[in-house]
Amino acid sequence: MAYEQPVIDVPALTALLDGKYAEVRNLVRKNLAEYSSILEEAETLTRDDFRDRVRDVIVEMAATGQTGRGFPTEYGGGGDIGASVAAFETLAFGDLSVLVKVGVQFGLFGGAVLQLGTKQHHDAYLEDLVTGKLMGCFAMTETGHGSNVQALGTVATYDAATQEFVVNTPDDASRKDYIGNAARHAEMAVVFAQLEIGGKSEGVHAFMVPLRRKGKPLPGVRIEDCGAKMGLDGVDNGRIWFENVRIPRTALLNQFADVTPAGVYESAIDNPDRRFFTMLGTLVQGRVCVGGAGISAAKVALTIATRYAVRRRQFNATSDQQEELLLDYGMHQRRLLPLVARTYALHFAQDVVAGQLHDVFSGIKDDERTRRALESRAAGTKVLGTWHATDAIQECREACGGAGYLSANRFDALKADTDVFTTFEGDNHVLLQLVAKGLLTDYSSEFSDLDQFGMVKFVAGLAVETVLERTSAHKLLERIKDVLPGGDEWDQEAGLLDPEYQLAMLEFREEHILGGVARRLKRGIDNDMNPGEVFSRVQDHVIAAARAHVERLVLAAITERHRAMPDGDNKVAIGLMSDLYALSTIEKDRAWFMEHGRLTSARSKQISREVSDLCRKVRPIAVDLVDAWGVPEEMLRSEELLTWGG
Ligand SMILES: Cc1cc2nc3c(=O)[nH]c(=O)nc-3n(C[C@H](O)[C@H](O)[C@H](O)COP(=O)(O)OP(=O)(O)OC[C@H]3O[C@@H](n4cnc5c(N)ncnc54)[C@H](O)[C@@H]3O)c2cc1C
Repeated sequence: MAYEQPVIDVPALTALLDGKYAEVRNLVRKNLAEYSSILEEAETLTRDDFRDRVRDVIVEMAATGQTGRGFPTEYGGGGDIGASVAAFETLAFGDLSVLVKVGVQFGLFGGAVLQLGTKQHHDAYLEDLVTGKLMGCFAMTETGHGSNVQALGTVATYDAATQEFVVNTPDDASRKDYIGNAARHAEMAVVFAQLEIGGKSEGVHAFMVPLRRKGKPLPGVRIEDCGAKMGLDGVDNGRIWFENVRIPRTALLNQFADVTPAGVYESAIDNPDRRFFTMLGTLVQGRVCVGGAGISAAKVALTIATRYAVRRRQFNATSDQQEELLLDYGMHQRRLLPLVARTYALHFAQDVVAGQLHDVFSGIKDDERTRRALESRAAGTKVLGTWHATDAIQECREACGGAGYLSANRFDALKADTDVFTTFEGDNHVLLQLVAKGLLTDYSSEFSDLDQFGMVKFVAGLAVETVLERTSAHKLLERIKDVLPGGDEWDQEAGLLDPEYQLAMLEFREEHILGGVARRLKRGIDNDMNPGEVFSRVQDHVIAAARAHVERLVLAAITERHRAMPDGDNKVAIGLMSDLYALSTIEKDRAWFMEHGRLTSARSKQISREVSDLCRKVRPIAVDLVDAWGVPEEMLRSEELLTWGG
């Protein structure tokens, strides 16, 4: 059948993308437009004034109900976790200091009180926290330890005589560092510290510690500003030291463990590692939110660059009357349109993980295995979403030439402010190792608390076949055998635009890399190597396995959504996005596919031709596709860049 150019119904596509949270997303869009002057203020106010302005904006936004969607209704919240993620994703269209301050106050600080605390803490803090009257911070990271949270140095020692904990920073490596809200605004902190009772350490726990009263640090609390940063100037990141700060016994956030007045430690979870990871697991929402925010920031950049590319002309190419529009150049299409497709694919993958988060934390589907799978998926989507933001924003900046460099055109702030998304809420490389661990151990709760050594020994102790059997990779392998009966021969015949073929290719890659990891781990242990050394040598392979897994999940998400759409032009458009994401992903890794006998050179060239064809098909609808994301006009700024007709 001949290809017919689809005509996009933009509002209908926006409705599809906004999904069931259209109402809250529109509330946030309205608020963003109302406070749009913040984008200029980020450039014109002094750092301190801008920080105060950001604080005021989030308190005012809180009054609209926008930021409290995830809290229980009895404390003034909206009681809907999915809605709170949707609100956060949409807020990321705007100034990202506002976003990160909201994340710190309501997501990290509020989330910790809600998830790690019990009714006494909820009653004491949530209502004021939800309105922004009580500002707080989440003090986990220390100068000495970021990713390895179990090794934190801050200590909270129980004093049974006074029924208090005494919080101390033993050395400078144990000072809290980079803590959002700490340098200027927070009155309280959720502090993560080693709990010690009678000389015995019970591991890291969270405590409510007052920091300031009437703007002044309390006795025993020392706070310093982290100083100038690459971006996020409206967020007051600081360092904190504690010296003999006494807090009552009830300041321990005691959802998972408690200390009796006499000083007896109690917890329903016996294994300390398991307890710790269960605690951390309840904070997964932050990761889901940051991944979604990265995707939104990429949408802003791509909207500006795509719209510019249909106005800006440079060089005569097809006519001597008029210079060519940038987006009519094949290279420009190649640069921008696969990124638009990837953004669509990630959007749908984000929907999946946000839906799972909602189901687990609303008790709709909540068991240990589902939680582990959610944590892994949240980590994986966060990684791809935030790296995508970094890549897409840079490409879009360059695609706008010199104009892209001017702060008024947004890329300055987008680049500077999103850069750290790849690091906070979990460093991306560290998170991919978490994803790989889930794959290798099949999210088995029994092994969820294994450290790296434990995992290597565990995996190596199994036959490789058993590892594959335990993991979803085995099921994939079976499916691939069915789908690709003749290997290369089948490949040659399969249509490149057949979603089964595309998925089978990504499944093959995932299974193959994962099998390779398991074999290498086993070989290392069989050769009596130290498990840490074995893991270190295999680590690049481990990361590649995790990345391949997540890219496959992303393709599955968009394929699934496309399949479920009613027939029509919007479905054709999403089909183009799905094909372009799939084939440009395969194309990017074509060396690997060729190395592993899954692509002939002829077929590989055919894929490249198809990607270019798809870009040409997407070209006429590119602006509609980016407009459907619904970034408010005020958030694009770029007035000259978007209206200039020369
Ligand atoms: C602007 C900003 C705001 C922040 N806000 C907060 C906040 O409010 N509260 C809070 O508690 N924290 C906050 N953080 C801290 C942040 O969460 C940490 O920086 C982050 O977790 C990474 O820790 P790290 O900086 O110690 O890096 P490290 O863990 O030291 O990592 C450094 C590098 O080493 C690599 N690496 C680490 N371990 C391994 C390994 N096992 N194998 C291979 N490679 C490895 C990593 O990939 C990374 O590239 C913030 C940070 C910034 C910059």
